[in-house]
Amino acid sequence: MVTENSRSIDARPENSNLVRISLADVRRREKRCPQELATKIRPSTPRPRRGTTSPAAPRALTKWPLVPLHDVLDLMEFGERSPEDALAQWRAAPKNPVHPALAQWTEHALRGYLTAAAAVPAAPGVPPTGLRPVSRLWARQRGPVKPGAPDMYEEMVTDRRYAGHGVRELRLVRTGSVKDRPRDSVEIALAVGVLAGGSPVLSSRWDRNPLTLGRYERPRLVRLVEIGCVDASQRILFEGTCEEAYAVYDERVEEALDRIVTGDAYRPGDNCARCGAVADCPAVPSVPGLLGISRPGAHRRSWSVTTGRSYRRCPARAHLEDLLLPRDTSAEDSEAVVRGKAVHAWIESRHRRTPQRPCTPDDVPGPPEGWRYEKWSVTGLQARLGIQMIADHALVCPLRDRPDDTEVHPEETVAAYDPDADVVVLAKTDLLYRVNGRWTVRETKTARVPDEGNLLEQHPQLALAVRLARTGVLPGDGHCGVELERLTGSGPVVTELDVAAPDVVSEAQRVLAEYVTPWHADARYPAKAGPACADCPFTRWCPDAADGSGG
Ligand code: SF4
Ligand code: SF4
Repeated sequence: MVTENSRSIDARPENSNLVRISLADVRRREKRCPQELATKIRPSTPRPRRGTTSPAAPRALTKWPLVPLHDVLDLMEFGERSPEDALAQWRAAPKNPVHPALAQWTEHALRGYLTAAAAVPAAPGVPPTGLRPVSRLWARQRGPVKPGAPDMYEEMVTDRRYAGHGVRELRLVRTGSVKDRPRDSVEIALAVGVLAGGSPVLSSRWDRNPLTLGRYERPRLVRLVEIGCVDASQRILFEGTCEEAYAVYDERVEEALDRIVTGDAYRPGDNCARCGAVADCPAVPSVPGLLGISRPGAHRRSWSVTTGRSYRRCPARAHLEDLLLPRDTSAEDSEAVVRGKAVHAWIESRHRRTPQRPCTPDDVPGPPEGWRYEKWSVTGLQARLGIQMIADHALVCPLRDRPDDTEVHPEETVAAYDPDADVVVLAKTDLLYRVNGRWTVRETKTARVPDEGNLLEQHPQLALAVRLARTGVLPGDGHCGVELERLTGSGPVVTELDVAAPDVVSEAQRVLAEYVTPWHADARYPAKAGPACADCPFTRWCPDAADGSGG
């Protein structure tokens, strides 16, 4: 068990031995790169460049979906503005440029936050308006918790902070609903530990030295609340005394934090674009000229084929996907799309088995009239078609003649950094495998009727794979194979591309350039209302939605 601040604020250990952990660092930790996280929590690490990489480029749009909401709430809580006045003031002079759809989302999120906050029951012994907003962050400092550990741990909370009548309350602000959100015991323990034992932060949260903390006042009660802005949902995650708060900070929480501090692996992905180590990272090869663009864009970004496809349909939609705004998934998931995702998920699960073994025609989900795998449910024709596709896959499964040295990596994310364009390229491959010493990447597509014509055009994942194979980003020293597996209503078709053929190489580059070049030159992501709106999951937030349903 750990307790309140035990360390003098004058202590100045070696900065490299200082770690500063906030709640954002423990959230979604399974998806983050451990090495990036371990670096980020050390304040002495040089920060990556923010904003524009080119002096002539416009200021980048805000990349965080809740930052504008916090700005508006600050105006209300510390500037004593009404919600309408705060919104108007923020709209007139936002700290950073925001996309029009993010502005519309912010208005909705503000209403959701205020409605939910008003519905939270008052804490025991506190009158309904007895808590006051607190402008300072709260943090606590701990000395070395065991031999070999960093000299100082700083744990800090941001979000919305309130205090009064001996109570400290932290409200965690979520974009989505909190109704079915899983409870994160590490996040809760870290938060209530700081509420019980933390002090106001007097210095900058970005200070490379230990934070300067104000006077500690022990609360009689601490409370952790979370609020879902999309639907004004709210729930109390913890309410108790300081002793009860310290008690939830148990060994499992300590172990989780130890893993974060250690950072023992690289996991390339969405974090690479904002990681300061990307130019030298051993897991992300640097390939100048990979995208054929000679100048950096507005700021460092990551690009994948998903980005390219979305951008081509509507630039605004691609930006809103990056922002992770709440989606209306029922709009975007047609029956065929759901069937495709269910088939992919099933096949992936078979390829992940240990010991590994080939797929077989009788290893299919059921019953045929309707089945579910993970979060994907299919019925009727799509259910039967999905079963047929899965059984067909067994006929062309790359493991079917499995020699002993076969190696498979389902759903592997491959990353490369193009320093000329200042872009991190992410390829989320369906299957990367090695048989008889030869590496191959296989993309699997499901379609009732097989596509004909230019495969690189129809499946830009293949164009990217050819480029990554030729430049040696994929394993195989420039000779990684590229395959397309099509599971159709009339059977499976596997096509191998000749990645050494000059016409294939040049066509792949042309296809890639058509996707990347306009995206790279754009920093404002204008809406392209039209057919893309029909299955867009963001029509609620988009003021330009073609059907007029935005807002
Ligand atoms: S560049 Fe990517 S893989 Fe490398 S440390 Fe950073 S986040 Fe991790
Ligand atoms: S609603 Fe239409 S215009 Fe707006 S982001 Fe979606 S696709 Fe683009």
